[in-house]
Amino acid sequence: MRLRTKYSSEITENDYNKNVVVAGWVQDVRKLGSISFIQLRDRDGIIQVTALKKENPEMLKKLTGVPRESVISVEGVVKENKEAKAGFEVIPRDVKIINSAKTPLPIGVVDKVDTDFETRLNHRFMDLRKPEAQAVFKLRHTLLKAVREELVSEGFVEIHTPKIVATATEGGTNLFPVQYFEKKAFLNQSPQLYKQMMMATGLDRVFEVGPAFRAEEHDTIRHLNEFTSIDMEMAFADEEDVMKILEKVIQKMISMVNNENKKELSILNIKIPVPETPFKRVNYSECVELIKSKNIGVTDGEDFSMEATKALAEELKGFYFITSWPTKTKPFYVQPFENNPEICRAFDLMYDEKEVTSGAQRVHDANLLKERMKDQGLSPENFRYYLESFEYGMPPHAGWGLGVERMLTILTNAKNIRECVLFPRDRRRLIP
Ligand code: ATP
Ligand code: MG
Repeated sequence: MRLRTKYSSEITENDYNKNVVVAGWVQDVRKLGSISFIQLRDRDGIIQVTALKKENPEMLKKLTGVPRESVISVEGVVKENKEAKAGFEVIPRDVKIINSAKTPLPIGVVDKVDTDFETRLNHRFMDLRKPEAQAVFKLRHTLLKAVREELVSEGFVEIHTPKIVATATEGGTNLFPVQYFEKKAFLNQSPQLYKQMMMATGLDRVFEVGPAFRAEEHDTIRHLNEFTSIDMEMAFADEEDVMKILEKVIQKMISMVNNENKKELSILNIKIPVPETPFKRVNYSECVELIKSKNIGVTDGEDFSMEATKALAEELKGFYFITSWPTKTKPFYVQPFENNPEICRAFDLMYDEKEVTSGAQRVHDANLLKERMKDQGLSPENFRYYLESFEYGMPPHAGWGLGVERMLTILTNAKNIRECVLFPRDRRRLIP
């Protein structure tokens, strides 16, 4: 007997009174005297398997004795049944108990009781059997497909850069050290320096989807210590050029999710309208005024506090850009405005109070870059390999980095970013 000939979603009226083999997990068993109903769950839905005692007492016994969440395969005949949720049921002729589940289950799959989040994460494989937990990752899949499709259609080339590196991207302390044979190395916090070096190669438009590691000690609902970053870099371009591409990418993500994930959106009970472009652009100084007008403390020239961004979000709903940041709030590689170097060509894309993307036009002049490093207390000698690529013909360029989990948190209204990653890495969690 084959283990499966059809998924639940593939069974149609054409299969009525015909033989199929279905397989999956035993979600529930209900006995009603001489009849038993087994809810068999596969990737796409639930199939009701109806066993009658009078037809086959042995099989009924076998089926009703299976512990919940065991894996079984059922060969049987599809019968129309208006009372079954799917409109049909399967009358079993042969049953294989493929893998019996232990009892009790570490967490319930269909129970109404809310399992606390930590316990769910401890048993993530079981948690992900829940349609609402799984739906998030189907959206994630579509989101990444949309990014690739959009960027490729704009002429971008997908690249991969090293994750084991010798220097900090931004000279910060938030790096995880690793022992690299006899040398000390780090896990990369961002592909920033490498994607910029690609601008000196003539590839012109590159993007990367990959892990980023941040050894930040904070333990918040919007930070992970390992996240997936979508990074792009574009030559002969300024910040406005890459903001336009970002708008298209966001629109594409949302429209593709709407087209391809109707079922998941309904499981998660969410509606995501495709946002109109251009997104609002508000410069840093305007934001400071807005925040002050709400009597929230803000120091001109510094990054915004949580409280300050919340105040902003009261006025600026949905997606909006914050532009023209004070130069000292941003990393050394961000290009200052030529006529006012106190502010720079950096932007953040926000959704309400959440940062989704940071980007900028970059410095492409080697001497200015060295100066900017020194201003920020970094030593250019440590960045020789990077600086060299600026000394033999480097075009102006711009780019951005977008956190996949941040974006997904916004789309799904998740309360915690950890819902949007299979196995979160945070201040306390390294397992599973
Ligand atoms: P934040 O201020 O929110 O901590 P950041 O400004 O330090 O973020 P960037 O270095 O600008 O982050 O990274 C680019 C993008 O990567 C962010 O806009 C965000 O979407 C994502 N990101 C950054 N840090 C994290 C993190 N710890 N966990 C999840 N996503 C992150
Ligand atoms: Mg940022």
